[in-house]
Amino acid sequence: MKITILGNSSGGPFHGRHYTAQALQLDAHLFLIDCGEGTQMQIHQHKVKADRCKQLFITHLHGDHVFGLMGLITNWCLKKRETPLTLFSPPGLRELIETTIRVCGVKMTYPLEFVEVDASVSHLAFENNQLEVWTIPLNHRSPTSGWLFREKPKPLNIRPEAIAEFNLEGNIEAFKAAKAGKDVVLPDGAVIPNAAITLPPLSLRSYAFCSDTAPSEKVIETVRGVDLLYHEATFCDEHLEEAAISFHSTARQAAEVARAAGVGRLLLGHFSGRYTDETRHLAEAQEVFKETFVGTEGSDWLI
Ligand SMILES: [Zn+2]
Ligand SMILES: [Zn+2]
Repeated sequence: MKITILGNSSGGPFHGRHYTAQALQLDAHLFLIDCGEGTQMQIHQHKVKADRCKQLFITHLHGDHVFGLMGLITNWCLKKRETPLTLFSPPGLRELIETTIRVCGVKMTYPLEFVEVDASVSHLAFENNQLEVWTIPLNHRSPTSGWLFREKPKPLNIRPEAIAEFNLEGNIEAFKAAKAGKDVVLPDGAVIPNAAITLPPLSLRSYAFCSDTAPSEKVIETVRGVDLLYHEATFCDEHLEEAAISFHSTARQAAEVARAAGVGRLLLGHFSGRYTDETRHLAEAQEVFKETFVGTEGSDWLI
């Protein structure tokens, strides 16, 4: 699983930053998360293969998270895209996009599907053969949903030595049972415990995307134990009050969420334009949670 940061700004295109957008790649699948103004440019700049995106996840309808969508949707028409695109978001996106398509006279070459999610609870929004995507209820000024990507369990792998050891060569049924996690029953009735035949299961990777939000217990519950948490860190300690008023978080608060949820690593982003760099964000967050990193634009994060 690879996450590419395409934009990490909240307030404006200042100090070389762009509005929020990320790409998540898992084998042949590519998902886009949020699509602020300039996302298309960032996709080209960082050579992200966004044309293969079939599912796009929007957190909420504030402009800094959606104003890049029309450019992207229209450009895919110019490229004669035919593959359907599904847009997941809290209510309102359909009206925004369909109105723009109508008013601007866009000739669509591919179907758009809209899936409205309930941003007040965590629920399954999408799944394919490899992963599930769950909503994360965020605490913001408008209905806002974070996105939790969880890999699904894979079939177990057989220990090569076990084949000779238990004389399993050609025993298709035994392989099937073992890969599915079951014990194997030999023709003579002997039972081999699954753990004797298979390698330990690979850990299932997970990524949580939380922007925009004030610190929230619901977030902590929903993202518990994820490998990588992206949490907005619009402000530093100095602007704690402003963070509360605007339903955003400071870097320290993001770190407190990460620590309480017991995540592996924390990625910060959505920085206010008043900060020329992210040095203070990082320092303040690392006082609470050591494994904190800045989601620099163009950086890739492997899970
Ligand atoms: Zn925002
Ligand atoms: Zn917002």
